[in-house]
Amino acid sequence: MKFNTKTIHGGQKPDAAYGSVMPPIYQTSTYAQSTPGGHKGYEYSRSANPTRTALENSFASIENGKFGLAFSSGLAAIDAVLKLLKPGDEVISTNDLYGGTYRLFTSIFEKFGINFKFIGMANAANIESYITNNTKLIWVETPTNPMMTIIDIKATATIANKHNILLAVDNTFATPYLQRPLDLGADIIMHSATKYLGGHSDLVMGALIVKDEALAKRLYFIQNASGAVCGPQDSFLALRGIKTLHVRMQRHCENGRAVAHYLANHPKIENVYWPGFENHPNHAIAKNQMNDFGGMVSFTTKGNNYKEAIKIVENLKVFTLAESLGGVESLAGHPASMTHASIPKEEREKTGVVDSLIRLSVGIEDEDDLIADLKQAIG
Ligand SMILES: *Cc1c(COP(=O)(O)O)cnc(C)c1O
Repeated sequence: MKFNTKTIHGGQKPDAAYGSVMPPIYQTSTYAQSTPGGHKGYEYSRSANPTRTALENSFASIENGKFGLAFSSGLAAIDAVLKLLKPGDEVISTNDLYGGTYRLFTSIFEKFGINFKFIGMANAANIESYITNNTKLIWVETPTNPMMTIIDIKATATIANKHNILLAVDNTFATPYLQRPLDLGADIIMHSATKYLGGHSDLVMGALIVKDEALAKRLYFIQNASGAVCGPQDSFLALRGIKTLHVRMQRHCENGRAVAHYLANHPKIENVYWPGFENHPNHAIAKNQMNDFGGMVSFTTKGNNYKEAIKIVENLKVFTLAESLGGVESLAGHPASMTHASIPKEEREKTGVVDSLIRLSVGIEDEDDLIADLKQAIG
């Protein structure tokens, strides 16, 4: 089965009872047993629920994995991966990581004796010098947020495999429409399904996908033991969202390309961060590991004026000023005052999050309306 077909049919079969094409929303916590232990595969909905199973099978299928796990949020999924580790273990991670992931690593897991190194990974060869006998996990995000840095997944996987270290890739920004990290040698894929997989800004959810059965069993154990599962209603919504992932992504990419080029030619714009530009520092890697360049575009204005950036995001009418990304509607964010406000100015500026940086999640509206909106807002 090819990708577009998998988004609709992957891991799915009509419901056994009445042949309903979509799985029923099994809004139940428990299941009747004929005798103790005599059940039909489901006994309690933290452990498993049929609507969630249908979604987990879809997750596995679209990422070319064997096992999928659905969680109550992206961070709950990351939390489960970190619980594979024990005190003294080390994690090597990208330095311009999603803020919530950074907070989870440093504010929660450091307390439990896990050590983190945050490094630049734009050059994968950099990673090897940070590896010690205690390194157990490499955590990669590509493209990164909000600077659109590209990390070479295959090169990173080669290093991880050589040292027997797990490689996890946060594939939230790219989605399997653009890149499939398991095919490139990663061990674990993580998603905030809140974003492109759900695609309609109507749920919060996380996903893990793996190929290896022993690893899947350890993660299922953690999922059940820690209990951060998603409910059947949200599972249904995510499954419905995934069925149009490929057509949405196609349009996100087209509109993202148009917006990036419009901004690049605008006299008031200083830098545009979008991996599709030939002068993007890792364009060659992006071209190699991605099928297209996605709908996330960041930019800065000339003069780097904080107030001017605030005014632009306030003036936007089709783009909504909001956190999050990946929905059908276009969103704009100002990282310095929103997602990255808690990071000291000198720190955030080191990774490029300057006062005038604006991040766009380009939606699937008409391209002309999006460009007209940017035009009136930037002036
Ligand atoms: C949103 C996001 C997360 C966290 O996911 P939640 O669903 O908000 O918990 C992790 N990584 C990336 C890249 C994200 O955009």
